[in-house]
Amino acid sequence: MNKTRDTPQDTSGNTTLDQARLLVSNLRALSAVEAPPTLRSAVMKTLGIGDAYFELATPLGLVYVAYNPRGISTVTRAISDAAFEQAFREQMGGPIYPAQEPPATLVHTLESCIRGEARPQLRFDLRGLSEFERAVLLKALEIPRGEVRPYAWIAREIGSPKAVRAVGTALAHNPVPILIPCHRVVRSDGHLGQYSLGGNDAKRAMLTAEGADPDTLEELAREGVRYFGTTTTHAFCYPSCGHGHREADEHRIYFASEKAAILAGYHPCSDCRPA
Ligand SMILES: [Zn+2]
Repeated sequence: MNKTRDTPQDTSGNTTLDQARLLVSNLRALSAVEAPPTLRSAVMKTLGIGDAYFELATPLGLVYVAYNPRGISTVTRAISDAAFEQAFREQMGGPIYPAQEPPATLVHTLESCIRGEARPQLRFDLRGLSEFERAVLLKALEIPRGEVRPYAWIAREIGSPKAVRAVGTALAHNPVPILIPCHRVVRSDGHLGQYSLGGNDAKRAMLTAEGADPDTLEELAREGVRYFGTTTTHAFCYPSCGHGHREADEHRIYFASEKAAILAGYHPCSDCRPA
C-alpha cells in the first residue's frame, strides 16, 4: 500500500520537492564546491518537507523514529539507515533524511513515555491511514500502561463491534508501534497473539517492561478465565484491569464469559469497560 502524500506546491506550479532536488543537484554539480554531507538534511529541514529520523532506545532495542512538523509518522526496526530510508520511501512515498540533531524535547518526551514516567503527549502524523484505522490506533492509546484489552474491546469502543478482524489488521499495520501501544491489544480469547514489531516474544517483552504479567495473562486465557469480579464492589473486569489490583485475592471471583458475570449479579467495571 503506497501512502503517498500531497506534495506542497508553490505559486509557479513547481513542487517544493522539485525545487529542493534541483537545488541539491545544482550544488552537487559545482565541481569546485564539495557539498557537506549534511547539506541535504539542512535543505529539507529549511523547506519543511519530508520526514527526519533518528534512532531511539526502547525495550526492543534501537528503533528508527521518523517525524515531521505534523508529528511522529513512523517507528520501525531496520538493519541500516539505508534500509530504513528505502522502506520509508516505499511505504510513505515521501522524502526522508537523517535528523542532524533530534529535537531534545521530542527525544526527552519519547524516553519518558517509554519509561512510563509521563502520560504521552505526543502528536502523530497518521495521514496515510483510513478514518477507521486512525480510530483503532487512537483507541489503543487509551489503554493504560501495564494493562491489555482484547481486539473486540477496541471494535466495540469505536462503534464497530463486528469489525474485530479489521481491528486486528489495523493494529498489525500500526505505523508507530511502541508509541501507540498496539502491544497492549490481545486476542479476544485472552491469549497475547502476534505483534507487528517482532512477534509474540517482542510483545511479551514490551508488556513485561510495562509491568504487565504476560505469563499470568496466558495462563488465565488457557484456563478459560476471561474476567474477574470483585466481591466487594460487584464489578467485573478484564484480568489486567488496575481496578482489581487494589483488591486481595479472596475478594476475587472468576468468570468465563460476560454472560456468566452478569448472571451472577456483577456489572461491568467503569475503568476497563469489559461490556
Ligand atoms: Zn476494570
